[in-house]
Amino acid sequence: MTYDPNNIFAKILRGEIPSHRVYEDDKVLAFLDIMPRATGHTLVIPKAPSRNLLDVAPEDLDAVMAVAQRIARAQLGVFEAEGITVTQHNEHAGGQEVFHLHVHVIPRRLGVELRP
Ligand code: C5P
Repeated sequence: MTYDPNNIFAKILRGEIPSHRVYEDDKVLAFLDIMPRATGHTLVIPKAPSRNLLDVAPEDLDAVMAVAQRIARAQLGVFEAEGITVTQHNEHAGGQEVFHLHVHVIPRRLGVELRP
């Protein structure tokens, strides 16, 4: 499997497509999902090119997950979340639609279903 440098998240990283950035450092970007499954639904991605979990370098995965944890903790306060759903898809058969590694971090409340 190869990495396409023109995938939509690569364009977001280069600033060619707008996004609502909520966190950024030298290795990681987090931004709001354009079709949120719940208010505050955030995507966390490495800045290094990586197609998905199957090819990511361990240090980039560590950096992404550390930011996912920070985002999740912040969502508890900002969105009064009672729980957090974290998902991550790999390849077409695994539900992946954008082929740059991303982790979904979604605030949850009891009794509130995710939007489709
Ligand atoms: O994990 P998967 O690849 O299926 O998810 C891709 C996600 O990227 C979707 O939740 C979609 O709403 C989001 N997306 C986005 N901004 C874009 C294109 C897709 O937030 N410009």
